[in-house]
Amino acid sequence: MRYFVQTRSDSVSKELTDKFHRLAAERGLQCDEQTPEIVVSIGGDGTMLHAFHRYIERLDEIAFVGIHTGHLGFYADWQATELEDLVDLMSGVKKSDLLSPRIVKYPLVELEIHTDSGVRKYLALNEFTVRGIDGTIVAQIDINDQLFEMFRGDGICVSTPSGSTAYNKSLGGAMLHPSIEALQLAEIASINNRVYRTLGSSLILPNHHHCDIYPRNEQRLLLTVDHLSVPLGNLHYVRCSVAKQKVSFARYRPYPFWNRVRRAFIGYENTED
Ligand code: NAP
Ligand code: MN
Repeated sequence: MRYFVQTRSDSVSKELTDKFHRLAAERGLQCDEQTPEIVVSIGGDGTMLHAFHRYIERLDEIAFVGIHTGHLGFYADWQATELEDLVDLMSGVKKSDLLSPRIVKYPLVELEIHTDSGVRKYLALNEFTVRGIDGTIVAQIDINDQLFEMFRGDGICVSTPSGSTAYNKSLGGAMLHPSIEALQLAEIASINNRVYRTLGSSLILPNHHHCDIYPRNEQRLLLTVDHLSVPLGNLHYVRCSVAKQKVSFARYRPYPFWNRVRRAFIGYENTED
């Protein structure tokens, strides 16, 4: 089995990475940066975003696993103390209760960014955002090629189900289970009065729908895909849809999404999980 480790730069994550390589070598796992089958991210959810974008061309060949060295993460759901267990399961020294590893696939958001210089495609694991550099932006939002609303406000966030617990949550969006193939469009501080009117609630679109965001000309915009900002020429519009491609995570033990939501945001512990 070929693996690679994506590490956050703090000393705890680096030490854990050294330990991982040592244990992996003892169990016959082969570190392979070019063509890994499993990519282990050690750090936080942000580290998983880095790992995802690093291997974005090989998503069909890779399953990701995340270990957190800070607080519990959504992608990084293994604890540092479970490291040896994880390497045992990965190498087959220890058998998982599941048909190991079970691969779970999460939906992604696909973006087509149409500018003067053509069309560029991106995939987001968490979300895409468009915001104004100088303040309020105005944008027309179409759903399935029909005008839906004229948006005026700070910006728009289009998230995946697994990204619904990130920026989208701060915007008051819903938590979406990653088995639902959908995208969520949430407003970032929309201006609503008698002149400007938006829906106000976030919208969840199924995988055969698309939405287009047409920002009014002559606004300086900031486009982000996960932790990355997208270089921008003269933007015409952005098309958002649920990607055909998915991201795979290796599950060596069950950790239901709702348990992660409860642990991360509510904090009740439950000895059963
Ligand atoms: P960051 O500023 O360090 O991340 C902000 C927080 O979001 C971190 O605590 C991060 O966890 C957490 N996070 C990332 N993905 C998550 C997910 N799927 N579910 C729940 N929490 C998640 O920047 P970053 O680490 O590079 O991550 C980029 C992400 O930050 C963006 O994709 C966006 O979702 C999020 N963000 C949130 C806000 C907001 O809530 N107001 C604003 C900007 C960006 P870790 O500490 O484990 O990395
Ligand atoms: Mn982070």
